[in-house]
Amino acid sequence: MQGLQALLDDVWAELQGRDERGEVATYIPELAKIDRGKFGIAVATPEGDTFCAGDADEAFSIQSISKVFVLTLALGRLGDTLWQRVGREPSGTAFNSIVQLEHERGIPRNPFINAGAIVATDVVLAGHEPREAIGEILRFAQFVADDDSIRIDPDVARSESDTGFRNRALANYMSAFGNLKHPVEKVLGVYFHQCAIAMSCRQLARAGLFLATGGCMPITGQNVISSRRARRINALMLTCGHYDGSGDFAFRVGLPGKSGVGGGILAIAPGKASIAVWSPGLNANGNSMLGSLALEGIAQRAGWSVFGP
Ligand code: GLN
Repeated sequence: MQGLQALLDDVWAELQGRDERGEVATYIPELAKIDRGKFGIAVATPEGDTFCAGDADEAFSIQSISKVFVLTLALGRLGDTLWQRVGREPSGTAFNSIVQLEHERGIPRNPFINAGAIVATDVVLAGHEPREAIGEILRFAQFVADDDSIRIDPDVARSESDTGFRNRALANYMSAFGNLKHPVEKVLGVYFHQCAIAMSCRQLARAGLFLATGGCMPITGQNVISSRRARRINALMLTCGHYDGSGDFAFRVGLPGKSGVGGGILAIAPGKASIAVWSPGLNANGNSMLGSLALEGIAQRAGWSVFGP
């Protein structure tokens, strides 16, 4: 294998010139302003190195990638009883699908579609005011990234709240089935802010490292979660992390991954690396087009796959 830095430089250079990059999400008006030409890659390794290419130090809206952090916190609160309120099966539907929720009587398919993530947020909110829960989620992202400079973009949070009709529908629907314990507006206030956390690829790759190393932060030696829980979160990322594009992502990339409509993807190569990519243009499933191709290239060249050597 060539050196990791050279590998990233090659993958970045090969894709950077590409015209077909998908469309930037417009349903959150603040995200529509982002330059489609941005493209960053970062890889963090258990040895403590971080390799970067392109716009790897520019912060972007992590959006649904925050669902990984909030699931980790919700499991810390409830343990396995969380699974009474949210399933663990791929949805095969869009991230904001309402139809499925009716069939399944208010129990979302998995914690990575919006409905499931809203339940996880409701769990983290227990015993707190929304402001405190938002602080807890932000501090967790800062802790695992080992970087206190990470912030929430209030304009993105407001923009999403102003247009968050579908998420309000999902939340109200689950409340009707008794699957939210707090008022819809409080839960969504937290949810919109967690989605508006802004991180660079470098920060995100470092933040994901605990999932690549059996639940501990290799640099500081601190334990975040058990290795069993880390394996399970990775399993859910593999099967559910890309909505109805999860099967294709597993086929092409072969690694657990979680995407966000801001154009970021966090992928985990267990034992080897945590990888973050960002390109705001999305494919039809709402996943970063260039980001998916970059991960495919990196995984292939580095020989990283959970399915075999
Ligand atoms: N904040 C976005 C939403 O709720 C997150 C969706 C995503 O990143 N796929 O619509």
